[in-house]
Amino acid sequence: MQHAGAARFAYNWALADRIERFKRNEGKAKFTSAIEQHKLLNSLKVAQFPWMYEVSKCAPQEALRDCERAYRNFWRGRKQGQDIGFPKFKKKGQHDSFRLTGSVHVAEHGVVLPRIGRIRTKEGTEKFRGRILSATVSRETDRWFCSLTVEVERAKPLTVVGEAVGIDLGIKIFAVLSNGEHFESPKPLKRKMKKLKRLSRQVSRKKKGSRNRKKANLCVTRLNRSIRNIRKDFLHKASTSVAKSHGIVCIEDLAVKNMVQNHHLAQSISDAGWAEFRRMLAYKCSWYGSELRVIDRFAPSSKTCSVCGEVNHSLALADRTWVCENCGTLHDRDDNASLNILSLGLGTGSHRPEPHPTKIGCNACGDPLTKRRSKKQEASSPVFLHEVVCNE
Ligand SMILES: [Zn+2]
Repeated sequence: MQHAGAARFAYNWALADRIERFKRNEGKAKFTSAIEQHKLLNSLKVAQFPWMYEVSKCAPQEALRDCERAYRNFWRGRKQGQDIGFPKFKKKGQHDSFRLTGSVHVAEHGVVLPRIGRIRTKEGTEKFRGRILSATVSRETDRWFCSLTVEVERAKPLTVVGEAVGIDLGIKIFAVLSNGEHFESPKPLKRKMKKLKRLSRQVSRKKKGSRNRKKANLCVTRLNRSIRNIRKDFLHKASTSVAKSHGIVCIEDLAVKNMVQNHHLAQSISDAGWAEFRRMLAYKCSWYGSELRVIDRFAPSSKTCSVCGEVNHSLALADRTWVCENCGTLHDRDDNASLNILSLGLGTGSHRPEPHPTKIGCNACGDPLTKRRSKKQEASSPVFLHEVVCNE
């Protein structure tokens, strides 16, 4: 589309202009504003870029703003020691998009944009409400998407009545809740890996620049899109269900970025979408009126016994179950972690549920506990001593 081209052109022009200014100032970062650039571009438009009159003036204008944001982010990042990349020049066909402000309307089964007119949408628009601030049109290879930024007033949520819950995110099972609920991830990438590899191979066999290569590439993009959609759908459902039914939600602050660097786990973790889940949970909790508590990521949630608080330092990543050396409780790794996350979030230290008789056994001989101690015994010495319990 012409608009995307104009937006890309304006962005690249603005970035080049900024780099040029930077050089002229002998390496000192001197900022120009998007508004200033817009005036300059407008004055050049008549003589140099008359074709720009054919598109809505919003598209290049918003592109200049984007460029400004990217440029400022880069310098702010440098100041604060964050690693934010320098804005890149945009290429045709890669993330083609543009944003329009002004008179954007929603029509029946379509959206009306300035200068472009009505475009049909696949999705129905009956349920639409809110004040439209802007419309972003973007292309994903073979499809165009239009997303609207909308201002909606949300009724202040009533506080969710429901038990507090701790969540442990894992690879095998996506999320284990301290109340025993499990969310199984569809693992779309893992399931479709074979197909994806086959299709990618087909692409590399086709001649570069050929029409067949383009066609094969389209198949890969479509598959990737379907993988992404399956993942997103699952994450939305899981996060909504958690946020809607629990008063307090406790979750671990996982350094996903650091974990992805672990090569063996990287793909599974990215496939699971933990970071996206956390992000969704944060805003949905505030929508539905529940509280999200994030636990320090260095807390040893998997290694601590949720019954007595003993820390098992020898626990390996592959151990799915383990027996506490101190109290003899058999733990499922994820269930135990979710209980610990809950108690850390509530600030109650070690979470102590009613011990389940089948889960308790002697740690020396493995003999299951036949006699449960009385409440009084329990209170006098909260720790099971194996001499007391073992009948052998
Ligand atoms: Zn224990």
